[in-house]
Amino acid sequence: MTAKKMTQRYSGRLAIALLAGAFAAQPVLAQDGAALTPHQQLARDIYRDVIAFRTARGQEQVPAMVSYLVDRFKKAGFSDDDIQVTDYDSDGEKTQGLMVTYRAKAGSTDKPIVLLGHMDVVDALAKDWVRPPFTLTEEDGYFFGRATMDNKYGITNLTSTFLRLKAEGWQPSRDLVLVFSGDEETGMISTEAQAKYVAENIDPAFILNSDAGGIALAEDGTPVAFQVQSAEKTYATYELTVNNPGGHSSRPRPDNAIYELAEALGKIAAYKFPVQATELTRSYFATAGKLTPGEMGQAMLRFAEDPTDSSAIATLQANPETVGTLGTTCVATMLQAGHAENALPQSATATVNCRIFPGVGAAATEAKLKDIIGNDNVSFKLITDVTESPESKLRDDVKAAIRYSIDKRYPGLPILPYMESGGTDGMHYRALGYDTVALSGAAMKASDMFAHGLNERLPVASFYGGLDHWYWILKKLAE
Ligand SMILES: [Zn+2]
Repeated sequence: MTAKKMTQRYSGRLAIALLAGAFAAQPVLAQDGAALTPHQQLARDIYRDVIAFRTARGQEQVPAMVSYLVDRFKKAGFSDDDIQVTDYDSDGEKTQGLMVTYRAKAGSTDKPIVLLGHMDVVDALAKDWVRPPFTLTEEDGYFFGRATMDNKYGITNLTSTFLRLKAEGWQPSRDLVLVFSGDEETGMISTEAQAKYVAENIDPAFILNSDAGGIALAEDGTPVAFQVQSAEKTYATYELTVNNPGGHSSRPRPDNAIYELAEALGKIAAYKFPVQATELTRSYFATAGKLTPGEMGQAMLRFAEDPTDSSAIATLQANPETVGTLGTTCVATMLQAGHAENALPQSATATVNCRIFPGVGAAATEAKLKDIIGNDNVSFKLITDVTESPESKLRDDVKAAIRYSIDKRYPGLPILPYMESGGTDGMHYRALGYDTVALSGAAMKASDMFAHGLNERLPVASFYGGLDHWYWILKKLAE
């Protein structure tokens, strides 16, 4: 996965900016200055330590971070048999994956649960940051540092929860397996290998990911909804090229590479892919519609009720925040043509980026584009790796566990499954047939989202407020 792909990672969160905060609950509790509990202190220490490893591509620091985590797990009582470290070569970069199994009590028969996080980060350059990116800094109510959100918060939260449950002597009713990848932000070599291993050796009941989802806060800090990432659109980018013999611009030929490409792009611009609705997207709009004021909220509710409602479709397609949830989109993003102002163009190339609705497929999308263009002179080249993944079910047991955990913080907060534009480890597990949902414990405003960007941060209150999140979810699912 490239950073370019990742920029859409949190589109689901951005969409929540539409929501008005109609849900009235108590605001997030600020840190009250009281001394940290032993568990809070432990989690904060792990957070500080893992952020200090610059696990970006080119640094090869993932193995050092793995050693650190292994040490933590061993000291907490996990045995060598429970811990598995695997080396991976990610396009020439040495990285590692870590798996830790919390064994079920004797006689348990329920299938395991796999829990995902990734240890690598998008790089950050100290000269560009206000504070050192690989030092945890607490300031103005925020924790600053690379991966304070994506995804060392998830790694910290899952790890500290395992250590806490172990210290309490808890025995789960099924195996719980942490699977931490080492190149999620780049090649996903470790992810793909781990997903294959999990399918062949663990065959879990389902998979929970720490790398997306979470509590969406309105700008005034009011919690709006608990978002559960349940599907990812397929990312595919094409280069469309027209070649031509060219010649002197004083002697124009009847055919012209730029005109032909422009005509093709005009057809793509005018084309709307079929509107699609699934159980997931309808339930998303049914919940989001109740939380969104005005015409937009009404359109969401009408679409949820009747996905053929043409006026609702028109309203949702006209809005950049919602158009992607209605179906496949393809849009021109780059253009290059010609080589001299006084020469006929010998080639013209456009880059077209598609976000493909689950189940449609990249091949069918490419065929559709060719069909609407209707000109064999326009050649297509797929320039991205494509991982197609189906929508996951938000299972009743998982939903009940989320309800149980969230009600302890925000009673009655709506649970909002959503589809995002793609980019987490989860898609590789979905592609193998496992229901995979992402449910971070973090609470964030859209304006606090700086994952992959400068000065990444997490509200301090959100860090501590979410530390029980996985604890209650695992108790509910495995007790
Ligand atoms: Zn991530």
